[in-house]
Amino acid sequence: MTKRENPKWNIVDASFVAGVTAPDRLPPPALAEVAFAGRSNVGKSSLLNTLLGRKGLVRTGQAPGTTRQLNFFGARAADGLELVLVDLPGYGFARRSKNERSSWGPLIENYLSKRVSLRAVVLLVDVRRGIEREERELIEYVSTATGASRRALPVIVVATKIDKLAASARKTAVVRVARELGHPAYGFSARTGEGRGELWHALRKAILTEG
Ligand code: GDP
Repeated sequence: MTKRENPKWNIVDASFVAGVTAPDRLPPPALAEVAFAGRSNVGKSSLLNTLLGRKGLVRTGQAPGTTRQLNFFGARAADGLELVLVDLPGYGFARRSKNERSSWGPLIENYLSKRVSLRAVVLLVDVRRGIEREERELIEYVSTATGASRRALPVIVVATKIDKLAASARKTAVVRVARELGHPAYGFSARTGEGRGELWHALRKAILTEG
């Protein structure tokens, strides 16, 4: 059990709810949602499986650009808390056609700016790769696009694959990511489970205080 792990937060039930390719196909906004964004290969599918405690629920190792739909996963914790984790398509446009690129934006932008049940956005950054233009753009978008109709969404940054750094270098690397982006950041490893408890703590706090 890693730091802050709480048995009551264990996910006792997790399932795929819907894969959505058009804004008018979104499931009803019945439960609090947290959306996960990050460049392809950042470790998003692995992180979601680790959070949900289910190895193969979210497909890992996909080629960049192959998941262009929003995937909704329902989860229920041992203490009864229910929420929905939303896997946004990975960005990083290198291997996509122009056509695919233009179909990525509107769906995500519509979801991020209008979804009433969305409580927080988790932005994943590979701890070794650091922050690039797309990460800044996404944060900028989330902090401005939601202005008129509701409160700005909290952004939680996750530095992924921290097992790739020496234990002594992890804390400094995560602090650097947080400082550069101006949002709280958590280190995470899907390989070892490090950071899982801390991230659940942050997610639950965002859901319970914003809800
Ligand atoms: P996604 O494209 O963002 O969904 O990334 P995946 O979850 O499919 O992971 C991409 C690659 O990174 C795979 O080869 C994973 O095994 C690897 N990976 C994901 N998370 C971790 C991690 O925490 N540590 C290490 N060492 N590798 C990871």
